[in-house]
Amino acid sequence: MRSDIIEKLVSVGLTEEEIRKKIDEKKKEVEGLLTEEGILSIIASEYGITLENEVEELKIKDIVDGLKDVNITAKVLAVYPVKELEGNKKVANISIGDETGRIRLTLWNEQCDYLSEIKREDVIDIVGAISKKGMKDTELSLGYKGKIIVNPEGKKITLEKKEPSRKSINELKKGDRYTEIRGTVVKLYRLRIYEGCPDCFRRVEFKDEKKYCNSCNKFVESIYIPICEIGVDDSTGYIKCILFGNVAEELLGKEGGELYSSLAELSKKTYSLKKAEEEFIFENFYYLLGKEVLMSGRVEDNEFLGLEFRTYALKKFDELKEAYKILGGME
Ligand SMILES: [Zn+2]
Repeated sequence: MRSDIIEKLVSVGLTEEEIRKKIDEKKKEVEGLLTEEGILSIIASEYGITLENEVEELKIKDIVDGLKDVNITAKVLAVYPVKELEGNKKVANISIGDETGRIRLTLWNEQCDYLSEIKREDVIDIVGAISKKGMKDTELSLGYKGKIIVNPEGKKITLEKKEPSRKSINELKKGDRYTEIRGTVVKLYRLRIYEGCPDCFRRVEFKDEKKYCNSCNKFVESIYIPICEIGVDDSTGYIKCILFGNVAEELLGKEGGELYSSLAELSKKTYSLKKAEEEFIFENFYYLLGKEVLMSGRVEDNEFLGLEFRTYALKKFDELKEAYKILGGME
């Protein structure tokens, strides 16, 4: 911002020395009430330079601890439910991203009302946010006078594209985020299905005999969301993999609704739902045993069961690329 204004002043014929002098003069005039940037804006306007609509837009990678008045355009990656706090306070988080990274934005109290208009995949203009160090990374919160413009006209965001890093299963560590594994399905644990919100995929609740999403704060037409648990072995190790929603449907080649009716049918004849969930996957999808899979995902540590691979996507094999990887590994 500051250097932009100086550049503009230079372009209308001032030397840096003259600018410096003017800043010092103004400083005395305003008796320390303005920042240097504020002073520069005044000088700029005296020279007929307009700075309107030139609010600097940052990219996520530029956001460091301690910035005020952050303006940024980003895509909504996830919207988390509003939490009620003591003393009638509310807080909510959304996760946003652009081509340079991702960051969390926190909304307080009446700012949480924005959540009724914001959903995943929306592009939002955030005006007047503040950055600070959070528990893990730098985070944003909307300032007192901050605002959000949902789906501003003509703005598009392409998300950061990262190639997942390929690892063998014995190399996987808790917290690995964008990782790829290749292995063989050697175990089918169970297939669970729940009724979820079509927008945010969270479990719906019943309210007045209708389905309600607490996180989107509205009644919804729920969908059946499968969660499939399989065991994968790649000869270096074994890991339990959790496939969720579309990814599970892709592996099983059936849609959630269809899976739900067959599972419901079977559970009538089985003494517990868990038993039905286990029998169902084994009886209907035993042919998956021995299937080779290439998956991207992240590694989580399950307190009781050890490491788990949360699968983001099943990937198609690119035979040639795979061959190069194997050859490369043999060198
Ligand atoms: Zn929802």
